[in-house]
Amino acid sequence: MIDLVSDTVTQPSPEMRKAIAAAEVGDSQRGEDPTVNRLQEVVCELLGKEAALFLPSATMANQIAYKVHTNPGDEIIMDRTSHPILFEAGAPAQLSGIMIHHVNGDRGVFTEEDVLAAIRPDEPDEPPTSLVSIEQTHNQGGGKIWPLGTLMGVSQVAREHGLGIHMDGSRLMNASVASGISAREYAYPVDSITLCFSKGLGAPVGAALAGPKDFVKQGRRRQQTFGGAMRQAGIIAAGALYGLQHNIDRLAEDHANAKLLAERLADEEAIDINPSEVETNIMYFRIKGMTGIEFCDRLMEHGVRMGGYQNGRVRAVTHLDISRADVLQAADAVHRMLIDVRVPA
Ligand SMILES: *Cc1c(COP(=O)(O)O)cnc(C)c1O
Repeated sequence: MIDLVSDTVTQPSPEMRKAIAAAEVGDSQRGEDPTVNRLQEVVCELLGKEAALFLPSATMANQIAYKVHTNPGDEIIMDRTSHPILFEAGAPAQLSGIMIHHVNGDRGVFTEEDVLAAIRPDEPDEPPTSLVSIEQTHNQGGGKIWPLGTLMGVSQVAREHGLGIHMDGSRLMNASVASGISAREYAYPVDSITLCFSKGLGAPVGAALAGPKDFVKQGRRRQQTFGGAMRQAGIIAAGALYGLQHNIDRLAEDHANAKLLAERLADEEAIDINPSEVETNIMYFRIKGMTGIEFCDRLMEHGVRMGGYQNGRVRAVTHLDISRADVLQAADAVHRMLIDVRVPA
């Protein structure tokens, strides 16, 4: 099967497994795991931040960041299609007791005007606004990249109003490779940043949360609170480290493959997609005449998996286990499937 359902489905390569098997380990809850410590140093260097924590998931990284940045009853600003709103099981409300003020961005990217309009006045009966959270790249926006200028504008407004700013940079490296702008440059305007190793970087487990020393010190306590402090975690950190060392530059292949797939799909009359909007490894398209779920069920019979929704929306994601030939084969499968549907036997 050609699996385009997500970039989380990647298998650790034999070389990555070797690095995992050979990892030096210690009790990382005590700060004694050399591989975890090394990974945290590499992340600090990559992002230009003072300190970092290795964590089990990007969801936990986001939630620790919110916990540290806010008090219960605070409001935080983010796009309405953000991962923490849609796919973190209500965690901001459960774990931090905070409210979300959602704004309507353009495929996830919002502006300083949007932030200004969302900040609550400092009145005793209004919830205090304390944080802006942005997603780089924006998953539901089809892997859209936050332009650096827009990010800097939003950051400046946040700072002028005494707000923190967090970046869910689960796919930051995709943004960096696609734009040629370094991860450090994107990380500079934000206080804290989440990085995910189990997406395009191809590791089986793990994420990092980076920021100023004091922020990470408080985050370390929340890591314990949320049950994310681990022991010989170098076993999994080694996979993450391998991903950072070997799988960043190759993200360009995923982007080229995504563009190629989008261009092929655009040739289908029944598919509505704009290939010029495909900036990284994620694409959304609309299918006419059936639901996204029906489309994906039929496509599975042709050996290709994508992610379908009730409303005719379909998502396809490229990753390191997908080659150019796979993408061409997937486009061909879509073509044949649509012909079968049009001309019933
Ligand atoms: C996948 C994802 C996460 C969560 O990552 P996990 O490691 O699976 O918890 C957070 N934010 C975005 C934008 C994601 O795509």
